Amino acid sequence: MIELSIIAPIYNEEENIEYLYQSITHALNDKISYEIILVNDGSLDNSATLLNNIANDNLAVHVIHFEENCGQTAALWAGMRTAKGELIAIIDADLQTDPKDIVTLLPYMDNYDFVNGKRTNRQDTFIKKVSSKVGNGVRNFITHDTIEDTGCPMKLFKKEVANKYYLFEGMHRFLPTLAKMNGYRVIEIPVSHRERKFGTSKYGIFNRAFVGLMDTIVVGWLKKRHIRYKIRK
Ligand code: UDP
Ligand code: MG
Repeated sequence: MIELSIIAPIYNEEENIEYLYQSITHALNDKISYEIILVNDGSLDNSATLLNNIANDNLAVHVIHFEENCGQTAALWAGMRTAKGELIAIIDADLQTDPKDIVTLLPYMDNYDFVNGKRTNRQDTFIKKVSSKVGNGVRNFITHDTIEDTGCPMKLFKKEVANKYYLFEGMHRFLPTLAKMNGYRVIEIPVSHRERKFGTSKYGIFNRAFVGLMDTIVVGWLKKRHIRYKIRK
């Protein structure tokens, strides 16, 4: 039985792939039974070949290749749908969060269904840090939520939480809010953070802030219109 599935979305991350694989195995070997699902979201660099080589050498690694770039939510959701673990951890391929922290989050699964990492000592540019703070504030205001770091790339949740999702592109930024909407218990726990060492961010101001705002309005609407009824006994 596999206890944990670790999913990483990958778009043009050739410099990070080997390091990602090594860090995950190093962090989790002997601690838990796990599989690694690496979802290649239509990379144009050498990522596909590197991923196939890793999967050929290790039966616990599964690779999914999209025909073309479909976006981070699609990659994560494809991973969730094939995950065999009782628990699912997601992490970005750039290793700005450390797979070792998955072990820190595991004990919270006894009392919660979803643990969202919260980046302490965030190692990003000033602009990114400020826009993230503003983004979280606006998101919480519109969606009536209290999540401090919804964009943290490290999250751990039960498979049943993933089974309840019906995602659209961009919704990877709202996973804790959507889990709460579906009735699950969510907590935020501090995790470490470091700079992106290799490769570049796939988002700019427009596709993060503007698209993010549009998506926030949609999630606010979804939450308001969410159907919850109880049948009288
Ligand atoms: N990613 C993806 N498809 C995309 C954009 C990004 O699979 O269309 C992956 C990317 O390779 C990385 C993660 O999603 O593993 C987060 O991307 P990035 O680090 O660029 O975002 P940031 O940390 O700057 O928000
Ligand atoms: Mg990143």
